[in-house]
Amino acid sequence: MNTDTRPPSQAAGSRATPPTFDLILFGGTGDLAMRKLLPALYRRFAAGQVAHDARIIGIARSALSAEEYATRAEAACRQHLGADFQDETWAGFRALLGYVRVDATTSTDYQNLAAVLKGREAITRLFFLSTAPDLFAAICKELAAVDIVCPTSRIMLEKPLGEDGESAARINDTVGAMVSERQIYRIDHYLGKETVQNLMALRFGNAFFEPLWRRGQIRHVQITVAEQLGVEKRGDFYDRTGALRDMVQNHLLQLLCILAMEPPATNAADAVRDEKLKVLRALRPIGEAEALIKTARGQYRAGIVGAMKAQGYLEEAGVDPASRTETFVAIKAEIDTWRWAGVPFYLRTGKRLPQAVAEIVVTFDQVPHSIFTGRFNSDPPNRLVIRLQPDEFITLRILAKAPGESMRLKPVDLALDLGESFKARPLEAYERLLGDAIAGNLTLFMRRDEVEAAWNWIDPIRAAWDADDDGPKAYASGSWGPSTSSALIARDGFAWHDEL
Ligand code: NAP
Repeated sequence: MNTDTRPPSQAAGSRATPPTFDLILFGGTGDLAMRKLLPALYRRFAAGQVAHDARIIGIARSALSAEEYATRAEAACRQHLGADFQDETWAGFRALLGYVRVDATTSTDYQNLAAVLKGREAITRLFFLSTAPDLFAAICKELAAVDIVCPTSRIMLEKPLGEDGESAARINDTVGAMVSERQIYRIDHYLGKETVQNLMALRFGNAFFEPLWRRGQIRHVQITVAEQLGVEKRGDFYDRTGALRDMVQNHLLQLLCILAMEPPATNAADAVRDEKLKVLRALRPIGEAEALIKTARGQYRAGIVGAMKAQGYLEEAGVDPASRTETFVAIKAEIDTWRWAGVPFYLRTGKRLPQAVAEIVVTFDQVPHSIFTGRFNSDPPNRLVIRLQPDEFITLRILAKAPGESMRLKPVDLALDLGESFKARPLEAYERLLGDAIAGNLTLFMRRDEVEAAWNWIDPIRAAWDADDDGPKAYASGSWGPSTSSALIARDGFAWHDEL
């Protein structure tokens, strides 16, 4: 078992030669591979963290030669890496690239892949399934049939992992029949983000947070992941999925887990994942009776986003004109534990919102008694804001005396700009995740029971919405969602961070 829990960036310094591997990239010509995975691998290579005898083998149905595949990959890397693309480095990276034409559903095609992999059974073999999830079962079945999954193999799975608990369990069963749980790397790319790692550093590297990180000190927590984009070219996929499944089940719940979990004994994969699982299992269920009070859902209409006109969701290509799919969700989540009883966690995500931002806001309690008279009695409470994107920073809002004769308090922000402080380029999420998978570090990947516990909480909300005659409430593109979202949090006497 690999016990190195350091991210690849740290671990590299102590490793003379990075380990070699074969990465078999199903969906190798797809958007994710071209836009994120290949550029991330290039960056790892440029940083000296990919062995020169490693191989990256693209797999798809398109009839391409290895040369043609490399040419496509080069164009994508040039476009997405900008000034970080270097011709000389590319020449070395290009030598690692190969391509095998395989239709995932055609058994005989896998023989070609088997021939390419033959003789390299002893080295790490990663199968990255970056295809639609309905191909996962076929791919697993055929990989097993052709006997190219060995004890050194790892299977990386892209989200979405199913569309409910049942389908997720089916996928997990299929993959689990082929390899052990420790060989499965389920990706939630949010966990690869630098600031999400910083959340762990903040909570468990600084003693002073711990006594404050609980009920009685924290009033409420908000997690917002807002997008300006609409469904782009993925209307068909999105209309079958919706914001609850696409964003809440994975990204928002994973963030909630890291914020709310008990301190794990170590940073090892299972120690962290055990604690996250306890949070998911302690989430108070939201059934039919509660769903109308504790959730708000919306669907965007035409409007203006970032000074650009945006069409409504029902006019998007691939979307059913009578669709009831939600493009916005707000949920009041409650965690039934000693630490968090009575502290609401408000989750919010949506498309066509005013800003593209992912942010966590932890609002602390007011002072129990204010010694400052008059209007200072209503001092705003302290607030910790952790911005995950587009920029990564942490601010702590405190009250300070404003200069002048009178005792006038004003809120000021203690700000930590992570980019500025460390003057180092943060790793892209996929760079870290690919590096960790190659190194055999599972900490940032989801375990089967986590994924299924998350669905267990999500499925009843989905069922309650399906049973409700009312569909999602309309909101104008460029607004912060339907008015029911503000009403949801206002019922508890609070407001969303951007409404303050
Ligand atoms: P995509 O652009 O549609 O690419 C799909 C890939 O699968 C292509 O390489 C396609 O190549 C290949 N493919 C399709 N059918 C195949 C078959 N029968 N046999 C072998 N290969 C086949 O999709 P994507 O956007 O890259 O997304 C891939 C997965 O990642 C999806 O599950 C998606 O939900 C998930 N994801 C994507 C993003 C993103 O930003 N794009 C983000 C998060 C998660 P051929 O047509 O040549 O076969």
